[in-house]
Amino acid sequence: MKKAVDGLILREAPIGENDKLLTVLTAEEGRITLTAKGARSMRSKVLSVCRLFTYGNFEYYEKNDRRWLSGGSANNSFFSICEDLERFSLASYIVQVADDITGEGVDASDVLKMTLNTLYCIEKGLKPHWQIKAAYELFAVSVSGMSPDLSECDLCGEGDKSEYWADVMNGSIMCAECMKKKNGGLPLPELDEYSARNILMPLDASALCAARYILSAPVSRIFAFTVTDTESIERLCKFAETYLLNHLERNFDTLDFYKAVVK
Ligand SMILES: [Zn+2]
Repeated sequence: MKKAVDGLILREAPIGENDKLLTVLTAEEGRITLTAKGARSMRSKVLSVCRLFTYGNFEYYEKNDRRWLSGGSANNSFFSICEDLERFSLASYIVQVADDITGEGVDASDVLKMTLNTLYCIEKGLKPHWQIKAAYELFAVSVSGMSPDLSECDLCGEGDKSEYWADVMNGSIMCAECMKKKNGGLPLPELDEYSARNILMPLDASALCAARYILSAPVSRIFAFTVTDTESIERLCKFAETYLLNHLERNFDTLDFYKAVVK
């Protein structure tokens, strides 16, 4: 029996002589794998729907515990992303993170919606790349249930001071005054008493405000924030990236690629 599903291609890998293995993000079933027979042949009728970043409707049938692509149509191929190396590298990182934070057989409607919005933003150049990247990273943190508590200083409970330190591994913040008092004013050791790494990052009021906004905003409004000061932007970006990588406990080759491109 033929089935059909809407989804976004997160990954395409060549297999066999002429085939492709597609990793597709769907709203209701999370990540699914489709085998596209003959998809690398120029004569293939599914050639145009088997490209990375394509959002479309995929028709398939099931046989031998696998899903075989039998047809489909593209709603949006985000084709022009591939014409610019920086856009391509950022989009590649975004879909690799999407792939990591979803699983098979789980609801992924928010991740799909956010990833489509993000690719659209990249393609149309609607926001600066740092903003798109930081927002997606903190979205990934939040949708994975790993959000830090940025509401107030973990020690004194103050929530509106001008300088904070984010404690990445504990998912909390500490105001600059409490930070000074802690450890008798000495810099914190690299490892704490439980041999966990101390990763502390400075967050000023405007970087903190943006991080709080992203973590609580609905997907449709997530890019609607501004940070103008260069230092605050840098702090926000470093925090978002460091937090995500440390909580997912991995690196992304696409992130290294993006960094090499923007250098
Ligand atoms: Zn404090």
